[in-house]
Amino acid sequence: MELPVDLRSDTVTKPSPEMRRWMYEAEVGDDIYGEDPTVNLLQEEVAELLGTEAALFVPSGTMANQVALRVHTQPGDEVIAHRDSHCIHYETGALAALSGCQVAALEGEGGLFTPDDVRQAVRPSRPYLPRSTLVVMENTHNRGGGTIWPPEQFAAVAEVAHELGLMVHLDGARLMNAAVALGVPPTTWTRHTDSVAICFSKGLGAPIGSAVAGSRDFIEEALRVRKMFGGAMRQVGVIAAAARYALRHNVSRLAEDHRRARELARGLGEIDQELGGGLLSVPEPQTNIVMVDLSPQRLPGAEELAQRLRSEQVLVGAFGPHRIRMVVHLDLTDQSVAFALEVWHRVLGEVRKG
Ligand SMILES: *Cc1c(COP(=O)(O)O)cnc(C)c1O
Repeated sequence: MELPVDLRSDTVTKPSPEMRRWMYEAEVGDDIYGEDPTVNLLQEEVAELLGTEAALFVPSGTMANQVALRVHTQPGDEVIAHRDSHCIHYETGALAALSGCQVAALEGEGGLFTPDDVRQAVRPSRPYLPRSTLVVMENTHNRGGGTIWPPEQFAAVAEVAHELGLMVHLDGARLMNAAVALGVPPTTWTRHTDSVAICFSKGLGAPIGSAVAGSRDFIEEALRVRKMFGGAMRQVGVIAAAARYALRHNVSRLAEDHRRARELARGLGEIDQELGGGLLSVPEPQTNIVMVDLSPQRLPGAEELAQRLRSEQVLVGAFGPHRIRMVVHLDLTDQSVAFALEVWHRVLGEVRKG
């Protein structure tokens, strides 16, 4: 087991020797001329996986989202998304800066919302109102705690959006986590969308890279926007190879991360009971993200507790004044989870009040 046990994010993984071998051996060419065979293969494989006509490799998940948003909108448009969605909360205001759009931010448990929420958010067509042009859904939902969009609810939201003339973008940075957790193909969700973003550098364990997928027309525009945003690259097969390796070898094993996340959550619940209860609450994780709500009365704030855990070699993220996030990933083992629980037990015993 490696120390520290790093539960801050599933982006902290390092490429394995076998993945590096694929990178080393990748055939490459100039991708701006469309001549990188490894990138071309990856794009075909992603389109096949997501059931779209085409796909485009981009450096980051942020760029995958922002390219799609730019293609779907005009300046002054309004994008409907959950207030906690990555493209609003974590992308430096790019939607405003790069696409000139504003946001209609929806509320809803776990980052989800309903067809009615969308109906109410869509603006009527008036010369003095912004145009509603796009709905964004995130699956799994990061700030929502790794929540999965129930397929029927997702389809119903997309149907209403399309009825009202809006496009649908899926931020599927962790789409494969949702697919593996429910045992369904990713097309369960993607077939209702106009574009999809997927990350290789999250749970799939590649060091770099994302893709955006959709129709051939969409990808033709996306190629222009990717270049405009500075994301067109040259002999980039060296990283596309890592993404190809990740899709081949690291998808079905996500089930292990989900099991360990459940064990981590259950373990914390048991520790709370052993210490008399009422210190924290941990909802049952749906995928690889564990959210821990700390009692404001009985425990120090999230920052302070994270600091204590860090001093004992367990890294977690403070996700609000009294909320901690832990993310399970492929560089962790059963021993790392056991170690993290031991440290939590000791630290909680020391810092609890009353
Ligand atoms: C991580 C993430 C992204 C992309 O982030 P990058 O750091 O730009 O790769 C997009 N959406 C969600 C939901 C994410 O968790």
